[in-house]
Amino acid sequence: MSTPIVRSVAELRTRVAAWHKAGERVGLIPTMGALHEGHQELIRAAGRACARKVVTIFVNPRQFGPNEDFARYPRQEEADQIRAHDAGADLIFAPTVGEMYPDGYATSISVSGVSDGLCGAHRPGHFDGVATVVAKLLIQAGADEAFFGEKDYQQLQVVRRLVRDLDIPVRITGVPTVREADGLALSSRNVYLSAGQRALAPLLARTLNEMASRIAGGAPIAATLADGLAGLRGAGFDEVEYLEARDVVSLVPIETLSAPGRLLVAAKLGKTRLIDNVPVLPKAAP
Ligand code: AMP
Repeated sequence: MSTPIVRSVAELRTRVAAWHKAGERVGLIPTMGALHEGHQELIRAAGRACARKVVTIFVNPRQFGPNEDFARYPRQEEADQIRAHDAGADLIFAPTVGEMYPDGYATSISVSGVSDGLCGAHRPGHFDGVATVVAKLLIQAGADEAFFGEKDYQQLQVVRRLVRDLDIPVRITGVPTVREADGLALSSRNVYLSAGQRALAPLLARTLNEMASRIAGGAPIAATLADGLAGLRGAGFDEVEYLEARDVVSLVPIETLSAPGRLLVAAKLGKTRLIDNVPVLPKAAP
């Protein structure tokens, strides 16, 4: 069994309007396809809150830089239809680039502050592309709630800010990262990894977790970040783009742990760029 696909905004709106007319709550799960267990967990989370679940599949050219993997990004629509169905999705919206950005398209959305630094510093224009496509998808679907993974933590904060700033009437829900047994965060890009790179990749999550427990135990943040960075480089990561401690909501850098923080990393194995993040919480007062 597989989930039906619509390709036009008009068809999407007709389906959602019928569900709303029947009094059903509608959840939206935006993705770029190549669905895995992480995406399926978003669909299941939507199922716990909404009667109807719409998955969007759109490899958005505007969020890829000129030297990034847009052309080779994995595309596998039939397998995605089965995975979406197995997780309980009612509908897939898979528009063409022309449907999303017709001739004459001229609007871009830029969310300042939270888009700066971290991935924003290393992928110029990336979060403008994300904010633009997510705003369009939210407006097109008119869903009641939309589900995003904490795996892309900066993206989640960009989307939360965007929705508040533009008064888009939708609730945004973050879903914890789904991982392989060895800790590696699931990602559609993991298929690019060679066997040797795949063996090294779980060190990213392990390093973050070790750093989080050291910092929670009172270790200074700057020294812990420096040790983590040296560990990743020494183990063979080709480039560590950033390893930082940030405030959970504003994403401003933190030097001490007085409020909940987040440790975030982006590092490359060969050409493959991996990102991950974990919470770091101050010890509860005795
Ligand atoms: P993508 O298809 O990579 O653009 O991701 C679509 C959505 O799935 C985003 O909200 C991601 O944060 C989320 N996602 C991707 N990987 C995971 C994962 N391992 N665990 C939870 N959510 C994920």
